[in-house]
Amino acid sequence: MLCRPLHLLTVTTLCSVRRAAFTMSSAPILLARLVATAHTVADKSGTIVRKIMSGGDLGIVEKTGANDLQTAADRLVQQSICASLARKFPKLTIIGEEDLPSEEVSEDLIETGEYEEILKAAFPSKYSSIKEEELVVWVDPLDGTKEYTEGLLDHVTVLIGIAYEGKAIAGVINQPYYNYQAGDSAVLGRTIWGVLGIGAFGFELKEVPEGQHIVTTTRSHSSKLVNDCIAAINPEKVVRVGGAGNKIIQLIEGQASAYVFASPGCKKWDTCAPEAILHAVGGKLTDIHGNSFEYHKDVKHMNSAGVLAALRNFNYYASRVPESVKQALVP
Ligand code: AMP
Ligand code: MG
Ligand code: MG
Repeated sequence: MLCRPLHLLTVTTLCSVRRAAFTMSSAPILLARLVATAHTVADKSGTIVRKIMSGGDLGIVEKTGANDLQTAADRLVQQSICASLARKFPKLTIIGEEDLPSEEVSEDLIETGEYEEILKAAFPSKYSSIKEEELVVWVDPLDGTKEYTEGLLDHVTVLIGIAYEGKAIAGVINQPYYNYQAGDSAVLGRTIWGVLGIGAFGFELKEVPEGQHIVTTTRSHSSKLVNDCIAAINPEKVVRVGGAGNKIIQLIEGQASAYVFASPGCKKWDTCAPEAILHAVGGKLTDIHGNSFEYHKDVKHMNSAGVLAALRNFNYYASRVPESVKQALVP
């Protein structure tokens, strides 16, 4: 799971129309170069995900069981992201979801380009002194694998989260099949990025109308606890979709007002990039108790106490979580 540098590899708006504020400063800081590279690498990931699907052989492997799958896309995308970032930033700690055998990564999986718009963005000065070895990158090469294997293609995302001092400060989400039902002329796939203190871009920020409660939750990992928690919130509507990345997209595009997952199952690579993007637009993502997640390199991977997130009115949702649910979910 710990991705090694290549020589050791064993293996706008806050929306699409609004652009990040520009800086006139000379050389881009390390964090800007890393996010700009992660954006380009995530674009390539989307291409790999589509290529594996159109090739027809998903190469499915069960990890812990039928609800915990890995495909060739999970494997190749993780190799691509880890090897690409490690080649350019060899002192990064990169933690990927998949446990892969040690082998050399094929050159055609390497991408080292940088997305220009991010290089020109005005990064807060507090990020200027960050060193490569102080950053931890959390990679979910394919979030929503179960849905990918079932043809629910727009549920799938690629997640690259960047943490500093244990906090998620930047994230990149590629959605390989964005627009896939929009007709032939629509551009397939998109990449959303966000940095705390700058904002999030690559989509149009929308909110659920004030006073409406729409909960998004798992479709393939439900449980009594998950359902009890949602029943206590008593929303007008429940949107059951796959993927942690996809559920954050539901929040920032006004399809849902809260993400409720009162269960273990999500890991740090599921929440790091989504959390950074949600926080960059003023939302909040925590465990079900309202405790912030830590993303330093030695942290436990499992988010044992579930996930609770909202773009607005987080405290309202936190206040509705029953004590019985909290007691069942120990951090
Ligand atoms: P879901 O909302 O069910 O799509 O889950 C979001 C993320 O958490 C996905 O990456 C899932 O694979 C992961 N996840 C959630 N629950 C479980 C579980 N019980 N077993 C394995 N992975 C899980
Ligand atoms: Mg995932
Ligand atoms: Mg995954």
